[in-house]
This record gives sequence, C-alpha cells and structure tokens, in this order.
Amino acid sequence: MSLHRERGPMVVDDVRRLPHAPLVVAEGTCFSAALVEDASRAAWLLPTATLQRERLESRGQANRLYLLLHEVIEREARTSAVPIVFVDSSDTVEDTVRTVEELFAPALAAGPRADTKAERRALLREANLAIVEQLRGYFARPWAVGQADTTVRTFVCECGDPSCVAKVRPRSPRARPRRRSPPGNITRRRAARDGRSGTCSKDRARGGSR
Ligand SMILES: [Zn+2]
Repeated sequence: MSLHRERGPMVVDDVRRLPHAPLVVAEGTCFSAALVEDASRAAWLLPTATLQRERLESRGQANRLYLLLHEVIEREARTSAVPIVFVDSSDTVEDTVRTVEELFAPALAAGPRADTKAERRALLREANLAIVEQLRGYFARPWAVGQADTTVRTFVCECGDPSCVAKVRPRSPRARPRRRSPPGNITRRRAARDGRSGTCSKDRARGGSR
C-alpha cells in the first residue's frame, strides 16, 4: 500500500493496453482514488475504524502506520468523490458483494460483456495463465526458494458457467493450464474425472456453518 503512488500508474498503463472489450475490473491496494477518471465506475471498500482495529489486533498488527494508511486512503477517496463502501463486522461477504453490484449495475448493463461460454472460457484461461506467469516470474528471482515446475497452485474452473465459482487444484504440476484454449480448459468436472481435486465454494457455502 505504501508504494501505491508509484505502482498505481504502472498498473493503469497495463490496464489501458488490454482490449477494450469486454469490461475490465481493476482492483487492489496499489490503486489510488486520485487515478480514477470516472467516479461512477469506481468503489472503495474501507473497513470501519472499529472493524479495522479488531482485525489488526487479532493479527497482532495494531500499529499507527495502518491507522494512518486508512486515514490517507479515506481522504483520497473523499477528495476524488469515489463511492465509499464502509464494511463493518456485521456485514457478510454477500452484503458487500450486493452493494458493489448495485454500484456497478449501470456500467455492467452498458457492457461490453463476455456473453458466450467461449468468451468466458477464454477469459478464465487468461486468468489462469496469469497465475502461471506470476509463479514463473517469482521463481525466476535469485532469492526465490523452490521451482515453478514443482509448485501446485489452485486455478479457477474454466467451464464458463457464469454461476460456477469452483476452484481446481491439479495434483500434478504438469496438469497446469497450457497456452491452448479450448479444448485444454481445466474444469472441476475434468479434474474429478482425471483424479484431481476440485472444490466449489458454492457447495461449501451451502454446507457450511453460515
Ligand atoms: Zn466450473
């Protein structure tokens, strides 16, 4: 977060280089509200002061720096007039998702969106390949311990069903996505058939404690 003034503009440059369709959602702590050109297409999630204090204390990280960063982020958001969504301990993830969806509803309705299954599968493949590239980039660093080729990561299911939020964890690093799409898509169904594991957060939510 403390590097957001340097890193944010670099990320914006990367986003500008992406195709104009479909819509792109850019998120992360490297973005400053000052970078936002259209406040109607932005949302800033901030914990309330109480929730921030509770979480920092539970992690043993209650120090002045984090409190100051919260003040800086909130001030920048107010100055830039971007919508702020305050998250409290009484809010569920679903509550926050609903609020953000309502804020973005006009932009999502205007599109352009990835409507076909093939378009969605191509985007999911791109996201999984980005994970692979991040892994390779990390292990290419001289101080990194381990190897990209022996690391097993979780990938998003590439079935293209808009309601699917399944995660697929290949048992073998060789099963990670390759630069071919489709028919090489990794999906929860294919993972189960091949003896790999696939977990679905929708199933967990239904059977969980909430
Ligand atoms: Zn799926």
